[in-house]
Amino acid sequence: MDAHRVTILDIPFIGGTREQFIQKELLPRIEHKEKCFIVTANPEIVEFAVSDEDYKKLVLSADFVVPDGIGIIVASKMIGQPLEERITGFDILNDLLALADRKSLSVYMLGAQEHVIQKAAWKVKELYPHLKLAGFHHGFFNLEDDSFAREIAELKPDLIFVATGAPRQEKWIAAHMDKFDKGIFMGVGGCFDILAGEVKGAPESWKRLHAEWLYRLLRQPTRWKRMLAIPRFLLRVAKNRP
Ligand code: UDP
Repeated sequence: MDAHRVTILDIPFIGGTREQFIQKELLPRIEHKEKCFIVTANPEIVEFAVSDEDYKKLVLSADFVVPDGIGIIVASKMIGQPLEERITGFDILNDLLALADRKSLSVYMLGAQEHVIQKAAWKVKELYPHLKLAGFHHGFFNLEDDSFAREIAELKPDLIFVATGAPRQEKWIAAHMDKFDKGIFMGVGGCFDILAGEVKGAPESWKRLHAEWLYRLLRQPTRWKRMLAIPRFLLRVAKNRP
């Protein structure tokens, strides 16, 4: 049975737990070599989709939109359709890398600065020695370069992680996915920076308090403007409440 969805400001979020998502949705698709596009959406991404029709279409074209960010969970409660849990891109990434290690899947890592992606790739090989690293490349390239995308497609990776930040990563996936025969595609934002140890992820205690956003804000104060998207998003949800 398909997992239920909760629609918030026109974006259909998948319900259930991360474990269910991986086991019931992703695993069969990986086994059947079906292509799949995952968007991990936080309030900032929903706000962007509200303001940009093309981006919204792109998000709606994804197979799955997962609730990344406590703001999405709060919004689901506000509309009386509570989502089970927050599912972050970083957690899915780690689960899929562990799965790739167990099943010898091949992985392509695209994005972040040159020295960061090198470190992140090295770290992945160290942590998951049985996965096949099909390749990696930094994230400062021409998004419209078809031949570059074809080169990656020829490697036939099972998992393609794109860390060039939203909306660039989703645009790249949507534009080039058709060149691939198979693959799970997911934009992973700043995850390679965390894997490489360049940016510290929030400690568990902060995550438990649902204060990861505050942790990020304190560590990277320049983000404050972007974070205004969270209250703006919640206000919009309140106004559009059925
Ligand atoms: N990045 C990239 N190419 C670009 C711009 C950014 O690869 O053209 C990388 C950047 O180095 C970082 C990641 O994208 O590793 C996430 O950047 P950002 O923090 O802006 O993304 P967000 O947190 O919005 O997903």
